[in-house]
Amino acid sequence: MPDGSESESRKLLGRLRDTMAEEAAGQARLDKITHLTADSMGTEVCSVYLFRDEDTLELCATEGLKQEAVHHTRMKLGEGLVGRVARTGKMVNTADAPSERGFRYMPETGEEIFSSFLGLPIQRLGEKLGVLVVQTKAKREFTSDEIYALEVVAMVLAEMAELGAFIGEGAALKARHTQAAMIRGVTGQEGTAEGHVWLHEPRVVVTNLVSDDPKRERERLKTAVEKLRVSVDEMLAGASGEQLEVLEAYRMFANSKGWRKRMEEDIDRGLSAEAAVEKEQSAARARMGQVTDAYLRERLHDLDDLSNRLLRILTGQGSETGAEMPADPILIARNIGPGELLDYGRRLRGIVLEEGSVGSHAAIVARALAIPLVIRADRVLTEALNGDHIMVDGDQGLVHLRPDESVVSAFRDKIAMQAQAQERYASIRQKPAMSICGKQINLFMNAGLLADLPSLPSSGAEGVGLFRTELQFLIRNQMPRRTELVEVYKRVMDSAGDKPVIFRTLDIGSDKVLPYMKPNDEPNPALGWRAIRVGLDKPGVMRMQIQALLRASEGRPLSVMFPFVAQYEEFRAARTEVDKALAIERKLGHKVPETITIGTMLETPSLAYASKKFFEDVAFISIGGNDLKQFFFAADRENERVRRRYDTLNVSFLTFLEGIVQRCSETGTALSFCGEDAGRPIEAVCLAAIGLHKLSMRPASIGPVKSLIMRTDLDALYDVICDARERGEQSVRESVLDYLRWNG
Ligand code: PEP
Ligand code: MG
Repeated sequence: MPDGSESESRKLLGRLRDTMAEEAAGQARLDKITHLTADSMGTEVCSVYLFRDEDTLELCATEGLKQEAVHHTRMKLGEGLVGRVARTGKMVNTADAPSERGFRYMPETGEEIFSSFLGLPIQRLGEKLGVLVVQTKAKREFTSDEIYALEVVAMVLAEMAELGAFIGEGAALKARHTQAAMIRGVTGQEGTAEGHVWLHEPRVVVTNLVSDDPKRERERLKTAVEKLRVSVDEMLAGASGEQLEVLEAYRMFANSKGWRKRMEEDIDRGLSAEAAVEKEQSAARARMGQVTDAYLRERLHDLDDLSNRLLRILTGQGSETGAEMPADPILIARNIGPGELLDYGRRLRGIVLEEGSVGSHAAIVARALAIPLVIRADRVLTEALNGDHIMVDGDQGLVHLRPDESVVSAFRDKIAMQAQAQERYASIRQKPAMSICGKQINLFMNAGLLADLPSLPSSGAEGVGLFRTELQFLIRNQMPRRTELVEVYKRVMDSAGDKPVIFRTLDIGSDKVLPYMKPNDEPNPALGWRAIRVGLDKPGVMRMQIQALLRASEGRPLSVMFPFVAQYEEFRAARTEVDKALAIERKLGHKVPETITIGTMLETPSLAYASKKFFEDVAFISIGGNDLKQFFFAADRENERVRRRYDTLNVSFLTFLEGIVQRCSETGTALSFCGEDAGRPIEAVCLAAIGLHKLSMRPASIGPVKSLIMRTDLDALYDVICDARERGEQSVRESVLDYLRWNG
């Protein structure tokens, strides 16, 4: 296209559209496209290379290279200039290809006589599909108009590949999304599941890529952007907190002249409005892969979401595509809110998120529902299609999409073994967790949602050792009313029957930010204004909550504890709030609990060194190992880099915990442990061995923990721990594992 005009590129697009409309086999279509492109651009060569597997490209069609090379010439990712384009996803434009770093001569193609080379990735919404190349004998660099024209051809090729337009013989011409893919993520909730993909937000399918009526397409785009703006403004009107920040970014993009202008230019060059939106979206996705700054990535994600909304307006495709949810759905989403997840509820077999974090609210809900969850599963959204066969390994943080037979059978073996183990656990459900040396360990479950309660009888827990009341606040869009809380707490106590429930008052702040409360701009939220600190400084919500608990008990015994108490005085002040609420309830003539037991979490090292009086005064202490460990080792529990750096079985931490056990036994203070480590069998037996005889954990962990306790001599294990400590080992884990291997 030597003159590089818009009308030339429109002409090329028009010819491509005619090719798409023709009835032809995949190969014939590809041949025609390479021919047309070379012809329109005035180049001797145009070639299409497609991926035949994850890291091999295959020459699938060419104009100008030897035809014998088609489906024979292959290269690895990164190999030669074509491989370089495929690996980096970036264009190569050179007048002198043979002198380029990494140039590879392929005699079978007769390539040596071509000097200039322009290669572009063929990709759709961040998914790499192949490489498109034009070459000429004459030494020259390609102009920006030529690059643009080739970009558009690459985009059309990508869309056509998505629509299955090239399906033919050979792996490289296989239909998209038919190959097996393994995606590595991070464990969000253990467990394994097999099922079929259910996309939370299904992809928008664009079928009309090309248009020769730019005026009409510009008009369509204008109307759609207008609608988008109105809908963003409407959403903004009812938004607050973090949501507000996202919507402000939406509004900024929706009003962005640059964004709109780029799309209009694409339309002028022959794209339909939808294709123009998608081209911008693809560019944003490609940038997303390269940006490391978290804030910028978030904004690019916002732009991506906004593009999806715009595409839905233009195509008229809502989130409802008419597709039926499979009977065994595995939910795939970029991220999902806790409320939306609860709407799906236990119907889901598994969840895979492209983002998310271990402590996110979605992860908390997934845990409550005991649904295997993999987070940070990179590219899962681009790879997965509704209805794909999928296997989720929450233990390893792995996802197998469209798995082949060998993976399927290995995975099913694993599921079968887990099912057998579950049967074993069910058989000991009614038995006490009695160790070989005759020590009974009391096992309780952690909960936070009504959805957790059905697990109480089925897990064999003796009660709820930690009810995280903040979850009821986190899953709502607005502050729950007292009457609503009374209802929830009542239902919790009703379902627990005569089993005890320890309610922990609101633990917000740090990672637990309420969507409807103004976020505090704190430099270090984990060490900031959170939990009981908020409760004491702004007691309104805590008072309302305590009142709701008192009323919900309807005279039944009540146990309450406070989160994040760092010194005696905080406990005393919080308890005074309960006393005051109690006095008010009495005055109002309401029935009050027959007994109230008031304890505290121990989550900061400082509380372990509080005065003896504190230990005498408090009714019970529950060690929140998750927080306690992060402060003990100064290692953020949310930070993947340091989260696992220090072992719970590190001798320093165990010795510290043992000190707390001793202090409590001196004063006869009831003590339990309710961090995540209580639910890990090896950790749990060690905690029991050093004297923590009451453990509270995820319901699904009770079976495995009980089973190991019943096979362990805790006294002997304690000796193993002491010996390892004396030998100067950093962590007692290896010695403990050795011991359990031979004796457990
Ligand atoms: C803990 O810190 O161990 C704990 C149980 O509380 P949370 O995980 O809710 O912070
Ligand atoms: Mg905590």
